[in-house]
Amino acid sequence: MAYKITLIPGDGIGPEITEVAVKCIEATGIKIHWDIKLAGEECIEKYGTPIPEETIRSIEENKICLKGPITTPVGTGFRSINVFLRQHFKLYVCLRPFKIYKGAKTKFENIDIVIIRENMEDLYAGIEFEKGKEETLELIKFIEKTTGKKLSENTGISIKPISIENSEKIVRFGFEYARKNNRKKVTVVHKANIMKYSDGLFLEVAKNIAKEYPDIEFEDKIVDNMAMQLVQKPELYDVIICPNLYGDILSDLCAGLIGGLGLSAGANIGEDVAIFEPTHGSAPKYKGMNKVNPSAMILAGILMLDYLGEIYYRDKLEKALAEVISEGKYVTYDFKQEGESYVGTKEMGEAIIKKLEEKW
Ligand code: NAD
Repeated sequence: MAYKITLIPGDGIGPEITEVAVKCIEATGIKIHWDIKLAGEECIEKYGTPIPEETIRSIEENKICLKGPITTPVGTGFRSINVFLRQHFKLYVCLRPFKIYKGAKTKFENIDIVIIRENMEDLYAGIEFEKGKEETLELIKFIEKTTGKKLSENTGISIKPISIENSEKIVRFGFEYARKNNRKKVTVVHKANIMKYSDGLFLEVAKNIAKEYPDIEFEDKIVDNMAMQLVQKPELYDVIICPNLYGDILSDLCAGLIGGLGLSAGANIGEDVAIFEPTHGSAPKYKGMNKVNPSAMILAGILMLDYLGEIYYRDKLEKALAEVISEGKYVTYDFKQEGESYVGTKEMGEAIIKKLEEKW
């Protein structure tokens, strides 16, 4: 029976890379009925919103969604459609693997890190108080009354909530992931020395849960040290669990280590819905140019096949992608040095499909 999966091509470069990724996924032989739905800047005119009700309903029904990048529209009341989707479907996990494929443009080798980022709380919770607003001034007074700390009336405030419930869920997910995938070490990232009641709580929860997994090595690192360690000795790290903001920043750091955003994808996972997407944005300056790297969108597809338990198709697709990257003949500009020749998005996709058709 074919899977029914919501497909959101997105905007900017989204439709080009989605078309290539879908063809590559289908070339593995898996049967999927794509329920194509709109989201992003280009559907505001038609629906009056960047995320129409029928798109939300489709994800609700199908439970699985493969999504291209979406431009965050300015001035529509939406801070980010991606943040909206994570909050709406309670996708509390953001899972991002960072692995070096031979042929990628990087100074490093032997990196195979998975970042597991809490996806709903922290400074991303959207609890913000604008400078000068009545409620902000009231909050400033409350802070002074309860803590003795005096803030200027010209202060804007963002709240950083971290709960025991969500910390437990994300840390447990991380350890279970490590166990299931035969990973050896979990590193929990925080700044508990400064933010005792938010990051401190996260760390305390992690330490307690770690006791239930004696088969997995556990350590914690302060986020600034972690950033330096990742650049100096990335091969020492395996599974990294982070609160939301640190996870966001360290994910891009890791993308830089393995060859750029064109090779980085993520899975947003909740209790019963999961959305898979490339980490990069809609790169509007390259829209319609058949130029950008489709790998991140294909890697999003690989994460989706893994989530579905379709290991045979997952491995086939990953092998074909890895071979095309390592041969270095049919790859996009971002794999190459200045002056070297490269191919377009479609041609790289065709090379992957050819591998799938010829070899397996
Ligand atoms: P971006 O990731 O779209 O592009 C930054 C640069 O990275 C590009 O100019 C390009 O040089 C490079 N790049 C990105 N994807 C590439 C690819 N596949 N192959 C080769 N090079 C690639 O970031 P931005 O310009 O800051 O954001 C553009 C829009 O995308 C914004 O509206 C932003 O809010 C949105 N965005 C969406 C998502 C998402 O949908 N998940 C994520 C990030 C940003």
